[in-house]
Amino acid sequence: MNFFVERSELRDIYYKVAADVRISEDDALRLFQSKDLNALGAIADFARQKKVGNRASYIINRYINYSNYCILSCQFCSFARKKRDADGFQFSTEEIVEKAREALKIGITELHIVGGLHPSLPFSYYTDMLRALKKLDSRLQLKCFTAIEILHLAWLAKKSVEQTLIELKEAGLESLTGGGAEIFNKTVRSQIAKGKESAEEYLDVHRIWHKLGGRSTCTMLYGHVEALTDRVDHLRQLRALQDETRGFVGFVPLAYQPVDNNIPVEKPPTGFDSLRTIAVSRIYLDNFDHITAYWVGLGLKLAQVALSYGADDLHGTIIEEHIFHMAGATSPQLQTEMDMLKAIREAGRIPVQRNTFYEPIRVLEKPLQAATESNEDSSRSKVLEDNLATA
Ligand code: SF4
Repeated sequence: MNFFVERSELRDIYYKVAADVRISEDDALRLFQSKDLNALGAIADFARQKKVGNRASYIINRYINYSNYCILSCQFCSFARKKRDADGFQFSTEEIVEKAREALKIGITELHIVGGLHPSLPFSYYTDMLRALKKLDSRLQLKCFTAIEILHLAWLAKKSVEQTLIELKEAGLESLTGGGAEIFNKTVRSQIAKGKESAEEYLDVHRIWHKLGGRSTCTMLYGHVEALTDRVDHLRQLRALQDETRGFVGFVPLAYQPVDNNIPVEKPPTGFDSLRTIAVSRIYLDNFDHITAYWVGLGLKLAQVALSYGADDLHGTIIEEHIFHMAGATSPQLQTEMDMLKAIREAGRIPVQRNTFYEPIRVLEKPLQAATESNEDSSRSKVLEDNLATA
């Protein structure tokens, strides 16, 4: 047993994890309330090691926001714009395909596409976009839309959620994103995202998608006005749905960003809070294989430390992130593969390039050679071929 755990009041929880006994909501609350971050981290690290061994993953992907116009005005959101706003945007399918074409040159295996709830784009815009991207390269994995976007599209198309998802799947959708979960508690939800879908609706969209054979990730936005009990309740509902469907491939805790929005929170979550949230998530969500340290909100340095506090994934290269940066994230807009590999190796893990479903594409036991200016293009093409051949 780890030195810190041995001397800790959290020892009983370590014994549960060691014996594969599920911890309760009371246990999870105790973990959240504990100031013993060393012991908490050690228990989470032990749980991670049991689940995934010594590997830590990342994905080579690109984000695309097709539009920031949105009919809602969630209080925490710094991204959405109205039609009257000068900095509103929407991209045509051709523009999106061009962005994807460019990103394919650096070897992406996934496009992650979300936007606001656009007031007037027809349902065919979304299916045409998916088809055009699949036509560009059928091996490119399309991870698109949050649960609230799916509800919006269903409403637009006057179809059931199930039929909407079936048609999006036929057009090329491979995974839903986990965005929009925020915090499930009704009172908190109305304080930060009034008008958004309820917890039940969020979970129902994912449930239906999972029952259609689809996979998705899920999230929790923490560090604003919620109580620790709200976090536990949120995790409880995710664990229950995972017991039912086994359709979540990973959990991504999201650190709240405080700039340019309407929630009276001056400071984002501290490093301590982020590490304990990741650690409790790993220990409580015993039916999730993968916990992501989202570097966009944490910064790569803290995300790297989180690899010793229960996380086993650093997310992706991303290339162009808007939603967190418009809310004040100070991380860069992209990470290079080399930076993520360095962070993973320094943390003592074996880097694994993964696909959308967290399946391994390449296990990088040995350091990659950095591409030089002169061979960059051919090197990138080679990476793409390697990536997509195994995706
Ligand atoms: S969080 Fe999403 S649904 Fe809410 S205002 Fe922002 S873009 Fe719209």
